[in-house]
Parts: sequence; C-alpha cells; structure tokens
Amino acid sequence: MTIQEINIKYQVYGSVDEMNPEDRELVAEAVKAMQGAYAPYSHFHVGAAVRMSNGQIVRGANQENAAFPSGLCAERTAMFAAGARYPDKDMLSIAIAGGVMGRLGSQPATPCGACRQVMAQYQAKSGKPMSVLMVASGQILKFEKVDDILPLIFNSI
Ligand SMILES: [Zn+2]
Repeated sequence: MTIQEINIKYQVYGSVDEMNPEDRELVAEAVKAMQGAYAPYSHFHVGAAVRMSNGQIVRGANQENAAFPSGLCAERTAMFAAGARYPDKDMLSIAIAGGVMGRLGSQPATPCGACRQVMAQYQAKSGKPMSVLMVASGQILKFEKVDDILPLIFNSI
C-alpha cells in the first residue's frame, strides 16, 4: 500500500484589474449573466459565461422550477447552450458568479459536482484544458483545468 497525494494549484486575484483582458471580460459576462437567473426558491442568482474557441461568449443563468429536479444550474445552462450553438467549437474557459438576490457574494460561486462532470466531458471532447473562474466580490479564483476541481475525473470518451 502506498499513500498518494493530489496537489491543486490555483490563482487568487484580489481584483479583475490583475487579470488578463480575456479573463476580465469573461468575469464581467458572468456577472452580467446573473441578471438572467430565475430563482424564486433559493433567491441565489448565478451567472456563467463560456468562452468558445471562435471567440464567442455564451452566457447562462440558473433556472429553478417548482418540480425541483427540473431546474438547472447556470454553468450547465451556459455549457449546453454553447454546445448546441457551436457544436464544432471548443469551450476554453468558464466563469461563474453568484450571490443572494442578484448581488455578487463575498464567497466565490463554486460549481456543483454535476456541473464539474459536464465541464470535464467538454474538456475531454476538445482535448484542451478548460479554465474555470469562480467570482466573488473582491476575490476571483482561477483553476487552469477542470482536473483541478474534479480530481480522478470519470471519463469514458
Ligand atoms: Zn451545478
């Protein structure tokens, strides 16, 4: 028996001013996307923005439903829309922003396990790392690839 260790490195930005222009733009789009949230139950508004390999940015927001499993997270709303709209393009990066009543929170919005799995598969499909940005007021976390937020990824493709 051996004990293995998984180390995860990520970047922490105190302000968008420290970020490269592409990431800065994507963060702004994710924050804007929060306006599209339909969250009458949780009142937690989440926006996501996906940068495609053709330069396009596709936004999504969480959509809740009285039949709870029928709703969908912002990340998957954005990724599925991006996948449907640009099926032959790669998803290079995703930014996620969230907060109660549409006000950006002080803690970064972190994706749920199901959304991480969907990110993992789109990353595998493209064969290129998809970076993940988690946005809060005054703090942004950047992970260079989905593996960093979903170690030991399930990947059957
Ligand atoms: Zn999710």
